[in-house]
Amino acid sequence: MIKSRKKSKFIYYKEQAWKFASLYIRQINADQRGFVKCITCPTIQHWKNMDAGHYKKRANMATFLYEKNLGVQCHHCNRNLDGNTPEFEKYIINTYGRDELDYIIDLSNSIQKYTWFELAEIATEYKNKLIANNLKLS
Ligand SMILES: [Zn+2]
Repeated sequence: MIKSRKKSKFIYYKEQAWKFASLYIRQINADQRGFVKCITCPTIQHWKNMDAGHYKKRANMATFLYEKNLGVQCHHCNRNLDGNTPEFEKYIINTYGRDELDYIIDLSNSIQKYTWFELAEIATEYKNKLIANNLKLS
């Protein structure tokens, strides 16, 4: 009983952390009218119709919420092209440099375990960043 309750708390805060991180990344990169360009193709759409994609996939907890591993992507690149990884890699190199790419790869190979409490803190952190930047919370 206790174990399953702990697990559901973990999942709840993981979802909350991701929800606010995704909202933040899509909106902070959008223009005044709410439009944002896909980092891996020329598509421009309203942020509500875009995804926050991962370079190293979301199954890996160590890079799941690491901001430089994330980028705004259109549904096609994120879903149909499974993240359009070759272009995503170019984006990371051009934006942050090759050292950062190496760091993300190392990080993705490491084991990181979050507690529900840490995930709750990350959720709050992103929620506060949304509020501070006058962005939408849903
Ligand atoms: Zn795209």
